[in-house]
Amino acid sequence: MAATHEKHKVVILGSGPAGLTAAIYASRAQLDPVVIEGPQPGGQLTITTDVENYPGFSKGIMGPILMDEFREQALRFGTKIENVWIDRVDLSERPFKLYAKESSDSEEILSVIEAETLIVSTGASAKWLGIPGEEPVPEGLGGNGVSACATCDGFFFRDKPIVIVGGGDTAMEEALFLTKFASSVTLIHRRGEFRASQIMQNRVLNHDKIEIMWNTEIREINGSKDAGVESIRIYNNQTGEESIYPTEGVFIAIGHKPNTEMFKGVLDMDDVGYLITEGKTMKTNVPGVFACGDAQDAYYRQAITAAGTGCMAAIDAERFLAEHGD
Ligand code: NDP
Repeated sequence: MAATHEKHKVVILGSGPAGLTAAIYASRAQLDPVVIEGPQPGGQLTITTDVENYPGFSKGIMGPILMDEFREQALRFGTKIENVWIDRVDLSERPFKLYAKESSDSEEILSVIEAETLIVSTGASAKWLGIPGEEPVPEGLGGNGVSACATCDGFFFRDKPIVIVGGGDTAMEEALFLTKFASSVTLIHRRGEFRASQIMQNRVLNHDKIEIMWNTEIREINGSKDAGVESIRIYNNQTGEESIYPTEGVFIAIGHKPNTEMFKGVLDMDDVGYLITEGKTMKTNVPGVFACGDAQDAYYRQAITAAGTGCMAAIDAERFLAEHGD
């Protein structure tokens, strides 16, 4: 079957807070945007439970419900949402071309989507340990005691003992943040020294509420749907000893990976893969391509900041189209 062709003024890759905010702005500017939903429609917030730090919801809101609201708001102004798989783009000339397949493992190109401007909001994915118990609810305890975001979920662990995994700056920062809530914080690291900057290490090592467990790996997270996390099975890779350690929360802070693989060699990015934008704008090195949200922000990584940069990217795209014609 021959691939179909469609052409749009604005195509937005990704449907988290950044992508859908870009869609709300672009659709209200009558640019008829198309959002390509991506493998995790709604983005990372759909795997959290309560969101209490998103302004405008004084009683908090469930992550998936918040993202439904974003989606409905974008649809209300005429945004089109497509659920296809894109892993190849051609940004060599405008209109840019995106090759859409049905899923990651299908070969056939279903359609070639042409875009006068492209907004990349493909987000980042937290790295996970890949151990039993870590999977998102309902299969595992992810979102029910296991989290990859202390800023989002730390508050729910008031006066509870928690563990945090990792040895980089994120783990240090999150461990320090969690001391404000948890009754105790145990930092578990697989080696005998941290990778984090010295200043962050010192703060952690000198904090009386943080205990360090060196050369230790978590093998399993135990608990139940009703009780949440109850314990972890740990392994000391120096002594070979395995034991059960009681805890009520597990924070995984072993890094994030921006979902920017398909732009390698085309869009400027840092060593980790975060897209680089120009000055205060969301412009990438390719005119007409804009980046926003966690795909370009290694530092703040909040839903509200992602939404903010999504708005900026849409305004940048609108101005670009006004200057360059469509
Ligand atoms: P990093 O890659 O720096 O650190 C990841 C840590 O997780 C390492 O200690 C690594 O262990 C550990 N790890 C990785 N995979 C596993 C695994 N499967 N099991 C157990 N442990 C694992 O990531 P960060 O997110 O900490 O930092 C990313 C970047 O952002 C860095 O450049 C950092 O400096 C920067 N950053 C800066 C901040 C600041 O300045 N305030 C705050 C946060 C981040 P090992 O050491 O053995 O490899």
